[in-house]
Amino acid sequence: MAFDFDLFVIGAGSGGVRAARFAAGFGARVAVAESRYLGGTCVNVGCVPKKLLVYGAHYSEDFEQAHGFGWTAGKPSFDWATLIANKNREIERLNGIYRSLLVNSGVTLLEGHARIVDPHTVEINGQRHSAGHILVATGGWPQVPEIPGKEHAITSNEAFFLKALPRRVLVVGGGYIAVEFASIFNGMGAQTTQVYRGPLFLRGFDQGVREHLRDELVKKGIDLRFNTEVTRIDKQADGSLAASLKDGSVIETDCVFYATGRRPMLDNLGLENTGVKFKQDGFIDVDDEYRTAEPSILAIGDVIGRVPLTPVALAEGMAVARRLFRPEEYRKVDYKLIPTAVFSLPNIGTVGMTTEEAREAGYEIKLFESRFRPMKLTLTESQEKTLMKLIVDAQTDRVLGVHMVGPDAGEIVQGIAVALKAGATKQVFDDTIGIHPTAAEEFVTLR
Ligand code: FAD
Ligand code: NDP
Repeated sequence: MAFDFDLFVIGAGSGGVRAARFAAGFGARVAVAESRYLGGTCVNVGCVPKKLLVYGAHYSEDFEQAHGFGWTAGKPSFDWATLIANKNREIERLNGIYRSLLVNSGVTLLEGHARIVDPHTVEINGQRHSAGHILVATGGWPQVPEIPGKEHAITSNEAFFLKALPRRVLVVGGGYIAVEFASIFNGMGAQTTQVYRGPLFLRGFDQGVREHLRDELVKKGIDLRFNTEVTRIDKQADGSLAASLKDGSVIETDCVFYATGRRPMLDNLGLENTGVKFKQDGFIDVDDEYRTAEPSILAIGDVIGRVPLTPVALAEGMAVARRLFRPEEYRKVDYKLIPTAVFSLPNIGTVGMTTEEAREAGYEIKLFESRFRPMKLTLTESQEKTLMKLIVDAQTDRVLGVHMVGPDAGEIVQGIAVALKAGATKQVFDDTIGIHPTAAEEFVTLR
C-alpha cells in the first residue's frame, strides 16, 4: 500500500525533531506536525530558558563576591523585563534554527494540532495524511493537584513569561523544577519559600546530596518547609495570595508556583482510534523498541514516562530513525548510568548509584567524600561549601556512583560519566593526574 509518508512524527520537540531529521537523512519521506513551538518543551519552556534564568540568578552572588577581589561598582539592580525580553529573542533564534534544520533535511513541516484518525492516518488543519509509521512524541504538561484556588497558581509554563518578578514567591514541590525555580526566584531577589510534602526534597537522589543542598539553600535564604502541603489558595483584597498549609500555617505571597510533576500530553490526540495501550500512570506503554500495542504506532520521550530528560528523548528518537530506516546502524538505548544535573544554586551533578541504592542492591561499599570551600570563594564572605562523593564497590573496586553539589557540577560530572560507562575503578581515578587548581581534581585525589 502506498502511503503519503513513510514516517509521520507528532511533536517537534527534542525527540520528534531528532527522529524526523535523521529518518529523512536516511532517505525516508517524513512529515512532522507541531502545534505550539518548534523545539518543544526544552527549547521554549524547559531546559534552555531555565538555564538562562539560572545564569541570571547567579549574578546577585557574583556582584557580592566581586568585592573580595577588589571590585566596587554601584549598587546592582535587576530588571526582570530585560532578562525575559532577551531570553525571548534567543528562543526565537533557536526556533528559526529548528525550522531550518527540519526543512533543510527534507522534512515536511506541518504547523497545527495533529489528531490520529486511524492507525495509518493523521489529520491536521482539516487535511488527512497517510503514513507507514506514526511516531507520537508529544511530550508532557505540568500537573497541579486539585485544591481550592488552584486557578491562582502558575506553573513553569507561565513563569517564563511573568511580566514582573514577584516580591514573594511560594514554590510547591520537591523535584527538579521546584528546586531549580526556588534558586532562580531567590537569586533574583524574591523572598522565596518552598513547600514539599515529604521529609526532604529530591526523593531518589543520594541522601547526603539532598541534605547538603538543603543546608546550602537555607544559607542562601530560602525558607524550606518540609512535611507539609498547601491545602488552599485564597486571593486577598490587595491582590496578594494566602496559601494555607496542612500544618495550619498561612503563607502570604505574591505568586504560587507549582512544580508537582508532569502528565503525558495526549489531549485530543485520537489515540482512542487505535489499539495503543497505557501504563497505570497514564503514560503510553511501549516495548524496548518504542512500539506501542498498535503495530504502526511508536512513541518516545516524555510521553512514555521513562526518563523525562532531553538527551534521553534524543537518543530514543535516534534509535527509532535507525531501526526503521538504517537498521544496520541500530543500537538500543542504554538506560544505565544516565548522568543528570539539577541546576539549583549550587548545582547538583550525579551519575550512577546513590549510597542507598548501592546498599539496597547488596553491595559492600566504600564511601569517599570531601566537603570544602571552593577556592574562588576564599576571598569572599560566602560560606558555600562543595560536596563531592564517590561510591565504590569494595569487592571489585568499581566506582558505582559519583555525586557533586557545587559550581559547575553538571559540567564536571558529564566527563566523569564517560569514565563510569567505561567501567572505571577507584584505582583508575587514583591513577589519573589532577588538573590543578580545580575543584574537579578532588575526584581523583579522594583517599
Ligand atoms: P517535548 O519537548 O515536550 O515536545 C513535544 C512537542 O509536541 C511540543 O512541542 C508540543 O507542542 C507538541 N505537541 C503535543 N501534542 C501535539 C499535537 N497533538 N499535535 C502537534 N504537536 C503536538 N531536561 C533536561 O535534560 N535538562 C534540563 O535542564 C531540563 N530542564 C527542564 C525544565 C523544565 C521547566 C521542564 C518543564 C522540563 C525540563 N527538562 C529538562 C525536560 C525536557 O524538557 C523534556 O524531557 C524534553 O523536552 C522531552 O522531549 P519530548 O520530545 O518528549 O517532548
Ligand atoms: P518531578 O517528578 O521531578 O517532581 C515532582 C515533585 O512534585 C516531587 O517532589 C513530588 O513529590 C511532588 N508532587 C507530586 N504530586 C504532588 C502532589 N499532589 N502534591 C504535592 N507534591 C506533589 O517533576 P518536575 O515537575 O519537577 O519535573 C518533571 C521532570 O522534568 C523531572 O522529573 C525531570 O526528569 C525533568 N526535568 C529535568 C531537569 C534537569 O535535567 N535539570 C530540570 C527540570 C525538569 P514526591 O517526591 O513526594 O512524589
